[in-house]
Amino acid sequence: MLKDQDRIFTNLYGLHDWKLAGAKSRGVWDNTKALIEMGNDGLIDGMKESGLRGRGGAGFPTGLKWSFMPKESDGRPSYLVVNADESEPGTCKDREIMRFDPHRLLEGCLVAGFAMRAIAAYIYIRGEFVQEAINLEIAIKEAYDDGLIGKNAAGSGYDFDIYLHRGAGAYICGEETALIESLEGNKGQPRLKPPFPANVGVWGCPSTVNNVESIAVAPEILRRGEGWFSGLGRPNNTGTKLFCISGHVNKPCNVEEEMGIPLKELIEKHAGGVRGGWDNLLAIIPGGSSVPLLPKNICDTVLMDFDSLRDVQSGLGTAAVIVMDKSTDVIRAIERLSHFYKHESCGQCTPCREGTGWMWRVMQRMVSGEAEIEEIDMLINVSKRIEGHTICALGDAAAWPIQGLVRHFRPVIEERIKSRKADKAA
Ligand code: SF4
Repeated sequence: MLKDQDRIFTNLYGLHDWKLAGAKSRGVWDNTKALIEMGNDGLIDGMKESGLRGRGGAGFPTGLKWSFMPKESDGRPSYLVVNADESEPGTCKDREIMRFDPHRLLEGCLVAGFAMRAIAAYIYIRGEFVQEAINLEIAIKEAYDDGLIGKNAAGSGYDFDIYLHRGAGAYICGEETALIESLEGNKGQPRLKPPFPANVGVWGCPSTVNNVESIAVAPEILRRGEGWFSGLGRPNNTGTKLFCISGHVNKPCNVEEEMGIPLKELIEKHAGGVRGGWDNLLAIIPGGSSVPLLPKNICDTVLMDFDSLRDVQSGLGTAAVIVMDKSTDVIRAIERLSHFYKHESCGQCTPCREGTGWMWRVMQRMVSGEAEIEEIDMLINVSKRIEGHTICALGDAAAWPIQGLVRHFRPVIEERIKSRKADKAA
């Protein structure tokens, strides 16, 4: 069981003094200069050894990602870009960090930025996060005034700036290249890759885009030692993680737990259990709306980490746990998500632009029972033609919830169609 002292985001446990003095009292900005003296490669090696995998959803190893940035300058500056455009339905963990612990993110920007030889960090924050943006602006000013960033940041001899940029509420701007486009003042649409941002990122310069949580945990990992972090969790799924638990639970919450905690334990220990008891559970989406849902029999035993959830054809994603009890119309729930992806498609590629709308319209007919039984297989067929055939992962994200619904709840859909036909015939 995770001990309180192993939790990084203590702010979530009653300490809500988010300004500089409070942050320092919790160990943030504690001898940051010593971390920088580990050197660029020392920091990157430390992050590699910690085993931290990106907390934005994809789970790519953070240290390895940092190592893709050029070691020698070709005359272009390098940048760190922090993805704070948290918009995945069910997800509200980065919001908590920025609202209650902004200095932890700023210290992470300095350490990660130095490791990657960046001259500045851009924090791209979701437009709807008004209070979080205000808190971050205050924290940035405090950090400049205290000499923690800017010229000779934290007394390290290294100059580093941090800029906050507010988005305008488009889900697609959470995709790293769409975010870069938006940051540059263009329409937020994903770019074809390659080139990857580490070669051609913001302003055509080498850039790395990292999630808020990935950056905010970095200084604490390096300060306590990568062995501490890699000793938590399970092999290849190390450390602690913020989980957002919502839906039909008694106490929706954000909580930091060890990777690999059983899903059932996570909900019963921290969210007061499923409304009406565990036996009243229908299904759970374990990692934000983009991953397939899981029926109760899998939720009984599955562990909350990247590999365990992949093995049951779902994913950890953003670790947003959406709980649905037996009162849920599961077809309607997935249809609602289908509409979200249709609405948020940027329209650049045909399979996504046309396919998301097509899937949503069929899903509407599944909800009402007016579809034909044969359309279930057709829906899966179309979803497979979208998955993997688009510029960015939004196409996959639109396909996977539907595939999960049919995989686990096909009899429910068939029953809905049959009873509609029986009603009409009567
Ligand atoms: Fe835009 Fe969808 Fe194509 Fe992504 S997959 S680039 S959101 S049209």
